[in-house]
Amino acid sequence: MKILVINCGSATVKFRLFQTQGQDELISLAGGIVSGLGKEDAQMSYHIPDFRFEQQLNRPGYREAIEAAIQCLTNPKYGVVRDVSEIDAAGHRTVHGGDKFTHSVLVDRDVITKMEQCSHLAPLHNPANLAGINQAMALLPKTPQVAVFDTAFHQTIPLHASLYAMPFEMYETHGIRKYGFHGTSCQYIVHRASQLLHQPVEKIRMVICHLGNGVSVTAVKNGHSVENSLGFTSLEGAIMGTRCGALDPGVILYLMTELNFSAEQVYTMLYTKSGLLGISGVSNDMRTITDLAEEGNPRCRLAIEMFAYRLKKYIGSYIAVMGGIDLLVFTGGIGENSPIVRSLAVKDLGFLGIEIDPELNDKALAVESLIHRKPCPVTVAVIPTNEEWMIAKETLEVLAARDRKNAIEKGGEIVKEMNS
Ligand code: AMP
Repeated sequence: MKILVINCGSATVKFRLFQTQGQDELISLAGGIVSGLGKEDAQMSYHIPDFRFEQQLNRPGYREAIEAAIQCLTNPKYGVVRDVSEIDAAGHRTVHGGDKFTHSVLVDRDVITKMEQCSHLAPLHNPANLAGINQAMALLPKTPQVAVFDTAFHQTIPLHASLYAMPFEMYETHGIRKYGFHGTSCQYIVHRASQLLHQPVEKIRMVICHLGNGVSVTAVKNGHSVENSLGFTSLEGAIMGTRCGALDPGVILYLMTELNFSAEQVYTMLYTKSGLLGISGVSNDMRTITDLAEEGNPRCRLAIEMFAYRLKKYIGSYIAVMGGIDLLVFTGGIGENSPIVRSLAVKDLGFLGIEIDPELNDKALAVESLIHRKPCPVTVAVIPTNEEWMIAKETLEVLAARDRKNAIEKGGEIVKEMNS
């Protein structure tokens, strides 16, 4: 079977086509990205093994971007399918499913309506995800579409961990609680960790540090998420590229009442001007910040220290939440590539059994690696995340569940006919 994974962001459309192989394998046939949506100089980049194709697109919307992706995938020279009928399903990354979605689902009108009702919870992401789904349904009308929710994996976080200590009706009436994000990435890491450690997930108490542009720390016990540092929105928790993470809510009141900030100004500052960018004053990119810190820039040094210190607080508290830890994972652009962040984040955690080997840590650059000192009770691993693979896998499972349900219904009808 062939599964097309589509990830629509606010400025990009990423896509990848997978093919099933054997029982459990999914191999990537082709992939690409359209960046600069809506701009005159938008770029399409498409690749298959040993071949890359680049093209400029003029002000593409979601429809044009997905159309361009399909044209590449079906191109007689460098495409990987003859026509779209070879694509068995499309799986869509969807950021926020609110309380309405605990699993990935086959998209129909009802699902779209429910997703629209969740859009206010992720105003930057959900409208883009929905636009992608709508355009893919128009362009591939015969292909089943599956929505895979980033929040679904975190639906197992217990109420005592997900509620804010506000009047209870804020939760009951308005759904204000922690939802958690990066669930698809965590699901992949849990799957991969179990293979890597040759242990069932139920036996691994895990802390996953997903450190990319967005940053989250997740506690996984018995294979289920029990805590995640992101919250009602993607602003809570660890320090991110441009987002502040945990902040005294009183600061927001002060900004608005004493400094006359409008809600929009607060929003812009906390989402786009804070985090690594706000502290360093130069960049939200950990590569730039690390280079400048090495040259002696004090604000860049401070940014790295604060970033790692906040991570350490989450790691320690999640170990307490789970009553111990077996595996600590670093993933995401920074987690996979930054030895300095990894080493600072676990500095002085030896008393909890966490110690990393400096040499192994330095060598672990975007490759799956174990980086703990041996012998050491806690495994520390770098595992490059693969959300697209996970979305393809979830899409296959939704299709299989649909087929099982259809077979049961058909069986029931035959029995009914036989009995009548
Ligand atoms: P992601 O959102 O997972 O794609 O991660 C993006 C972030 O990873 C970038 O903003 C960089 O800060 C960071 N990153 C990527 N490569 C490196 C690297 N070699 N060293 C440090 N940080 C990196």
